Amino acid sequence: MSSIFTKIINGELPAYKIAENDQFLAFLDINPNAKGHTLCIPKQEINKIFDMEEEHYVELMKFSRKIAKALEQAVPCQRIGMSVVGLEVPHVHVHLIPLQTMDDIRFSKKESLSPAEFEEVVKKVQQYL
Ligand code: 5GP
Repeated sequence: MSSIFTKIINGELPAYKIAENDQFLAFLDINPNAKGHTLCIPKQEINKIFDMEEEHYVELMKFSRKIAKALEQAVPCQRIGMSVVGLEVPHVHVHLIPLQTMDDIRFSKKESLSPAEFEEVVKKVQQYL
C-alpha cells in the first residue's frame, strides 16, 4: 500500500505544496512544531534515509538546503533546524523547522494554524525560491 506521502505526491491527498521537481517535493507539515515546518521528500517511496542511493541522498540534501534558505528568509526565526525521524511515516522525509527555541525541535509542542495561515507561509517561502 502507498504511503501517505506517496498519496500527496500523486494528488490523492491534499497538501500545502511549496516546491517540487521530478525527484523531490517540499510541503508543509500538517501538525507543525512551529510555523513554516516543512517536509522534503523523495518521490520514490523509500522507508529509511540511509537506505537511499548516495547520489539520490545528496540530491535530497541539496533540494532541502534550497528550501531551507528560502524558509529562513520567509519565516522569522533564529535559524532553520533539520531533523530526520520517520517513526510515524515510513517514507523518507527531512523536517525543516524554523527555530526560536530548543522546544521547536523537540516534537512535543505543536502549533495550530488555519488554512489561510498555511497558505500564507507557502506564498512567502515561494517568494524566496
Ligand atoms: P516522523 O515520521 O518523522 O516521526 O513524523 C512524520 C511527520 O509527518 C509528522 O511531523 C506529521 O505531523 C507529518 N504528517 C503526518 N501525516 C501527514 C499528512 O497527511 N500531511 C502532512 N502535510 N503531514 C503529515
